[in-house]
Amino acid sequence: MSLPLFKLLRPRSLDEAVSFLESHGGNLRVLAGGTDLIPSMRQKLFEPEFVLDIRHIPELKGIRLARGQDVTIGALTTLSELERSAFLRQHYPVLTEAAATVASPVLRNMGTIGGNICLDTRCLWYNQSLTWRKGCGFCIKKDGDLCHVAPGGSKCWAAFSGDTPPALLCLNAEVEIAGATGARRIPLVEFYTGIGDNYRKLQPSEILTRVFLPEASADYRGVYRKLRIRGSIDYPLAGVAVAMKRANGHVSDARVAVTAVNPAPMLVGKAGPLLEGRVVDEALAEAVGELAAKTAKPLTTSALTPEYRREMIRVFTKRAVLAAATS
Ligand SMILES: Cc1cc2nc3c(=O)[nH]c(=O)nc-3n(C[C@H](O)[C@H](O)[C@H](O)COP(=O)(O)OP(=O)(O)OC[C@H]3O[C@@H](n4cnc5c(N)ncnc54)[C@H](O)[C@@H]3O)c2cc1C
Ligand code: SF4
Repeated sequence: MSLPLFKLLRPRSLDEAVSFLESHGGNLRVLAGGTDLIPSMRQKLFEPEFVLDIRHIPELKGIRLARGQDVTIGALTTLSELERSAFLRQHYPVLTEAAATVASPVLRNMGTIGGNICLDTRCLWYNQSLTWRKGCGFCIKKDGDLCHVAPGGSKCWAAFSGDTPPALLCLNAEVEIAGATGARRIPLVEFYTGIGDNYRKLQPSEILTRVFLPEASADYRGVYRKLRIRGSIDYPLAGVAVAMKRANGHVSDARVAVTAVNPAPMLVGKAGPLLEGRVVDEALAEAVGELAAKTAKPLTTSALTPEYRREMIRVFTKRAVLAAATS
């Protein structure tokens, strides 16, 4: 599958990138590691006139640590850098665990945290070649007006399938978004819409620049569990992140989030209150698993059945809660 023709823009600074976005935003795609964008362009899911290659912008790279302050991660920081960071592994383990499960080592060397957060939603009826989609029928997310997964409805249910966002949600992470009118910082939980074909709150003229890990979220025990078909490379078909702090054996604070089972990564709202003040045992972990399974609303967007994916959310959540309480 060949790439469609496009003009490549290569800004050397964030200001230059923002001015390109302002002038060409309506017909442009941002390229970071390209590990998701390029295959999607080959499948003609995106045929932008301009591609904005942001890889040569130094201020978007790297992890900045300062004692007693939030950690700042540039959008271009690769997943391998996250995985290998001894500081993050020690203080924000749920993030390094999640990053280490993305795709394969080669893709993690290219793929960035910004790309993982902005990742397009996925569906069996969408992530296909143009020839396949022509033959089987277009849908709401691209070129059509019906949904094969939920016929009769007008909503796209394509699943958000990134691994690091649920970990970031458990850490109360924030993101910075830059555009012509300046930069704004929002909680990651507000970045996603829950609508498969319009899944993120990012204007065409905006770019995600940084991720912030609050100092207050440091030193939580963290666990990430993921269901996929090929353990060495695949996207998650269900994923669970848990971050937990304990004092005297009792949970003092905890958050649980799921991915790949809704059009957005989601916090399991009632999990924290249920866990807080309690000693984790099998029954409590099972109850949290039930809550996570209720938050998950998988549909037939992937190769495994919705029933199995929801059941695995329950099982993985239970295991992850028990592991976080004993690790
Ligand atoms: C075989 C295979 C397996 C994979 N398995 C997984 C997996 O297990 N888990 C997983 O999470 N992902 C997986 N991926 C997807 C991908 O590798 C990762 O999600 C990666 O982190 C994407 O980052 P990137 O920098 O390559 O993004 P890109 O491909 O460059 O971009 C992805 C999207 O985000 C946008 N974007 C990128 N950066 C920014 C920014 N700073 N601001 C605004 N928009 C931006 C792009 O325009 C594009 O829409 C897989 C990909 C392949 C090909
Ligand atoms: S959920 Fe429906 S509209 Fe969305 S990509 Fe799948 S088939 Fe298309």
